[in-house]
Amino acid sequence: MVSSEAAPYAKTGGLADVVGSLPPALQELGDEVAVVLPRYGSIDLADTRCVWEHLRVYLGPDVYDLNIYQTAANHPVYLVDYPPLFGRKALYGKADADYPDNHIRFAVLARAAIGIARHLFATDIFHCHDWQAGLVPAYLSSTFATDPTFLGCRTVFTIHNLAFQGIFPKSVMPDVALDPRLFTPDGLEFWGKISYMKAGLAYSDALTTVSPTYAREIQSHEMGAGLDGVLRARSKVLNGILNGVDYAEWSPEVDSHIPARYSANDLSGKTICKRNLIEEFGLPAGAVDRPLIGLVSRFAVQKGIDLIIEAAPGVVAGGACIVALGTGDREYEDALRRLQQDYPDRIAVRVGFDNGLAHRIEAGSDMFLMPSRFEPCGLNQMYSLRYGTPPIVRATGGLDDTIEKDTGFKFAESSAEALLRSVGEAVRAYSNSSGWRERMRRGMAKDFSWRASAAAYSMLYRRLAGQAYAHAML
Ligand code: ADP
Repeated sequence: MVSSEAAPYAKTGGLADVVGSLPPALQELGDEVAVVLPRYGSIDLADTRCVWEHLRVYLGPDVYDLNIYQTAANHPVYLVDYPPLFGRKALYGKADADYPDNHIRFAVLARAAIGIARHLFATDIFHCHDWQAGLVPAYLSSTFATDPTFLGCRTVFTIHNLAFQGIFPKSVMPDVALDPRLFTPDGLEFWGKISYMKAGLAYSDALTTVSPTYAREIQSHEMGAGLDGVLRARSKVLNGILNGVDYAEWSPEVDSHIPARYSANDLSGKTICKRNLIEEFGLPAGAVDRPLIGLVSRFAVQKGIDLIIEAAPGVVAGGACIVALGTGDREYEDALRRLQQDYPDRIAVRVGFDNGLAHRIEAGSDMFLMPSRFEPCGLNQMYSLRYGTPPIVRATGGLDDTIEKDTGFKFAESSAEALLRSVGEAVRAYSNSSGWRERMRRGMAKDFSWRASAAAYSMLYRRLAGQAYAHAML
């Protein structure tokens, strides 16, 4: 697997959770999996060992002299070490601007993965995640098309979020050693520029995305982010496979980040979690008697943060409190801080990235809010179910696939009014405590573990490998 994120090493969102937890699930099914990841400045090399020195990547005018480290994980996780490109703390950029050399950084990652497959980990299937890994299939089907090491290799490309596409000017093609013949509308050209996402879509043997509904949605003009035509053309090889949850990490029975553990049979610990959360956020102790709505999110337009901001006064008027954790667009951060100032007894906001606090919000809240405009899969709503925190979601993508009327609350329209109606419904349901507990328990009983989804990936790999084998026999 080639990815720009993998928990616990580097995370900004759900991609990290998936690449962190899918490989062990695949291993249980008998597949051998390695992960290739940049060694960012935030990753400590203390528990790693250097397994390859001077892996040289020649890209256009430059040579990149890489060292490869392997972590102590049960499956090989290879960290691509090259401080001038990756030795920065933030993954993709500073403040609101991407790093200007991201095209180089993720071209080097792709070539490093191909080098690792040559020297360290004999590979049948390259499974590439999102645009940051999109050049792997492009290089394999051009630069390395006749390289005997990779004959019969197959590629899978998974779309975790079609909104981030890795678009760069055509003029960078020589710098990342891309064959000019790839610059076609069927290839990686995107309106006169190049798109690393489109490279992944065009040159991979199979495509997947992270929920069945999102797989359908992205083939429509409204939700295809300019790539719906390509996706429709490749619909025969495109599948939606729902992400799984790592319940060893996200379960109230075993969670080490929360002040009291609990289960569906004994929910008493959840009240302690709620009390602690209210204290941690500096809300008055009396808030414990009100329904508490949690939010953990990137503060981005995708996540419908503006709808929450617009609806917040109405949510407060309806009797609920809100605790929110996230980072992202400055304008949303400021607006949420203002709401905290306006309603200091009812709304509390933490701007930042804090994994422990994310767990405590899942455990200590009564309900969880995800009014996304689009949501490829979404993980927090599945975590919420397990923590007995019924989610209030917009019916889109993976949210629509995982939340039902009897486990959560769904609304269709992307508007503050619709959100508020759904919150009102949840608050009314909450006032019936025995009915609410039943709802909690129904959600807690749902199983979104990796078992089924990992099996779907494994079958896909085997089918592709079989095709390669059959091809070799012809
Ligand atoms: P996306 O990948 O689009 O951001 P997902 O719901 O798929 O959304 O995954 C988000 C993941 O990132 C979850 O594990 C969530 O808990 C975590 N997360 C998001 N923002 C924060 C934050 N500010 N602090 C800690 N964890 C966060």
